[in-house]
Amino acid sequence: MSIPINNPAATPPRPCELCGSTDYKFLFNTEDRLGLAREVFRIVQCRNCGVWRTLPDMTEAELAAFYPKDYWGGEPAEKWIRASQADKTDFIKKCQLQGGRLLDVGCGAGFFLRALNQQTWQAYGVELGEPAAHAAQQIFGNAHIFTGTLLEAKFAPAFFDVVTFWSALEHTNEPHAHLREARRILPTGGTVIIQLPNAASYQARYFRGDWFALDAPRHRYHFTLPTLQKLLHDTGFEFYRSTLRSPVHNVHALRQSLKARWWHQSTAKRAAFLLAIPFLKPCDFLLSSVHQGATLTVAARAV
Ligand SMILES: [Zn+2]
Repeated sequence: MSIPINNPAATPPRPCELCGSTDYKFLFNTEDRLGLAREVFRIVQCRNCGVWRTLPDMTEAELAAFYPKDYWGGEPAEKWIRASQADKTDFIKKCQLQGGRLLDVGCGAGFFLRALNQQTWQAYGVELGEPAAHAAQQIFGNAHIFTGTLLEAKFAPAFFDVVTFWSALEHTNEPHAHLREARRILPTGGTVIIQLPNAASYQARYFRGDWFALDAPRHRYHFTLPTLQKLLHDTGFEFYRSTLRSPVHNVHALRQSLKARWWHQSTAKRAAFLLAIPFLKPCDFLLSSVHQGATLTVAARAV
């Protein structure tokens, strides 16, 4: 199966949503790792602000076809949910955030919201995918989970204490508009937390189009710490904490990227991949220490 994209290469790309520039340079090509399209996608870099983006431009309706029904997975065990969310709950604790009203943008079936201490947090979510939003609504109720985008949800000003984007901001065509909206629904001193793949990581540099976390065409903008810090500054936030470690994401991305690069090359490369599996975790630890880790998590305060 191949999903057609109604955007011929001749159509000029939209201006960069972060800075308005139309000037960009080509970096490399990539393909859909899920095999839903035969088209080749282009990764380009804005010459003005430095952010990477995926071309061709695609509408939200076109992008929706690239999310398989099982993109968010099925209903897992409670223990798995807590383990899979440990990166996130640990980061929240390190930011000294104890409780309050929290909105998770792109909350999926609510796994992160479920892993929070329900005694101290009032959990809210926004989710575009209807099956996942429905699963979250079963737990948190319709009043706490909005089906649609953050921009459509129209929450009251300064309604939340914390807004999180876990693997969410890179999926939208409008990251600048989303952070502006996050600023509007937070009071001064409120916190935004963003986790996304690090386009300056050793994995991004080495694997390029084969990097698992590139996830084109679903990931529209690809950030580094400097490009994300600039976006936060431009939308009314003051950056205060970051980490490039993620035991949950980084080794998984390394394994899948290596597989994409080697699996179809030769029998020898396939054997090398299988032999390398036990060494990937220490390897990622070492490379992430020397170079940059593959997942970027940042916290910023509304100013
Ligand atoms: Zn730009």
